[in-house]
Amino acid sequence: MAGMTYHLASLKSGTMSQKKVIYKGVPMAPEWPAHIEASQLVTTYKINGQVCDRIRYGDEPDLREMPFLIRIALAVFTLVRGYPPCHDCGALKGQYHVGNLCDMECCPSCGGQVISCDCDYEGDQE
Ligand SMILES: [Zn+2]
Ligand SMILES: [Zn+2]
Repeated sequence: MAGMTYHLASLKSGTMSQKKVIYKGVPMAPEWPAHIEASQLVTTYKINGQVCDRIRYGDEPDLREMPFLIRIALAVFTLVRGYPPCHDCGALKGQYHVGNLCDMECCPSCGGQVISCDCDYEGDQE
C-alpha cells in the first residue's frame, strides 16, 4: 500500500489547486470523493492487537468536552451555515475521515491524532 499512500499524499498537497469537483457542496480534487467513499468502508482499526471502532467526524471526544457556550454557538452556526466539512479531508459530519491521511482523525485508542500517535496500527492503514 505504500505506493497508494504516496499517491494520496501528492493528491492532497499538489493537485488540489487544479480542476475541482463539488462533492456534497465541498470543492475538491476530482479523485478525492472516491477516497472519501472508500474510507467509509473501513469502520475499525486494529490497534495494539485490539479491534477499535473508528471515530466519525463530529464524534471526536474533544468536541464533546467543549464548554457549553461554545457548543451552543457551534450548534447555531451549524443550523445557519451547515456543519463545516473537515478542513483537511473534506469529510462531512457523521462520515469517516480519509484513512490515515487526515490530521483531524482521532485515534480511538489514545485520543491523539491517528497520523501522529504512537499506537501500533495493523493492516492497510499502515
Ligand atoms: Zn478529515
Ligand atoms: Zn493512538
